[in-house]
Amino acid sequence: MANDTIKVTTEIVSCSDNGQHPLVYINLKNGSGRCQYCGQKFELADSETGKEKSAA
Ligand SMILES: [Zn+2]
Repeated sequence: MANDTIKVTTEIVSCSDNGQHPLVYINLKNGSGRCQYCGQKFELADSETGKEKSAA
């Protein structure tokens, strides 16, 4: 059983559990989601890489 939550930076993630189940897409609009087949949890991480500084 995979208990680890995978953090992603996109609202839509795909999961197929390495081909163990049909490829599905999970929407993380609410910040987190779970694969309906294998139960893998996904969490939307804050994207800090896109910080834009406009300091002179
Ligand atoms: Zn899955």
